[in-house]
Amino acid sequence: MKYVGAHVSASGGVENAPLNAHKIGAKAFAFFTKNQRQWVAAPYTEKNIDLFKERCQSFGYSPDQILPHDSYLINLGHPQKEGLEQSRNAFFDEMKRCEQLGLNRFNFHPGSHLNQISIDECLNRIAESINLALDKTSGVTAVIENTAGQGTNLGHTFEQLAQIIDKVEDKSRVGVCIDTAHTLASGYEIRTRDAFDETFSKFDRIVGFHYLKGMHINDSKKELASRVDRHDSIGKGVMNMDMFSFIMNDPRFENMPLILETPDELLWAEEIATLYSLISQ
Ligand SMILES: [Zn+2]
Ligand SMILES: [Zn+2]
Repeated sequence: MKYVGAHVSASGGVENAPLNAHKIGAKAFAFFTKNQRQWVAAPYTEKNIDLFKERCQSFGYSPDQILPHDSYLINLGHPQKEGLEQSRNAFFDEMKRCEQLGLNRFNFHPGSHLNQISIDECLNRIAESINLALDKTSGVTAVIENTAGQGTNLGHTFEQLAQIIDKVEDKSRVGVCIDTAHTLASGYEIRTRDAFDETFSKFDRIVGFHYLKGMHINDSKKELASRVDRHDSIGKGVMNMDMFSFIMNDPRFENMPLILETPDELLWAEEIATLYSLISQ
């Protein structure tokens, strides 16, 4: 089963996310567990939590179809003590929110070295941050997203993702999310059959498909190896429809959230339908 959906708004309450997903015909959804540009947010009320669960159930969303995303402020590899502490606290708070909602995965960007520490040191900090959060939570897998490698963001090579996973103690609760736009921008070609197969066999060899817990299905405004993170609507950027078709017809991407993070939300319903139409009978 392919679960295609979008990163929908949770404004007005987390319980609005499943409602917004249902309205666009999504079979999966992502949302920010709290305002993505603020450090502190009010905790969920019992009413938020009950209504979220109730709506997920009535609209048919199981935890395997839901991929909450962390806020943009968090840097789990922060070079400075204070920044690292603040990020770790916020990360723990968000992971706890996922636990409260009965969810099983939490997607985040690994972190940035800010040119103040080495790549290895930063990757170690990220792994340690994950270990600390996993220690204090249960049932939620930490899902590391690959990045475009913009600025000093890490996680733009499969080797870096593997290096983080290697240092995570509980391997049963760590996973990865592959973003197609980030993959291309970071330098992996995926637009021809051969290149797609080569990139994902590399992924399997270096990281392992058993760690794949979700995908972000985006077109990209920026070219191969640009290291610039700019999503585009499906079919409007530098990807071709073949790439989307490879994913939709590949059983390795089944039973996990496949999330659109494309810029025009008015197109999401149509984009979801387009992606399903690519499945060959
Ligand atoms: Zn992301
Ligand atoms: Zn993404």
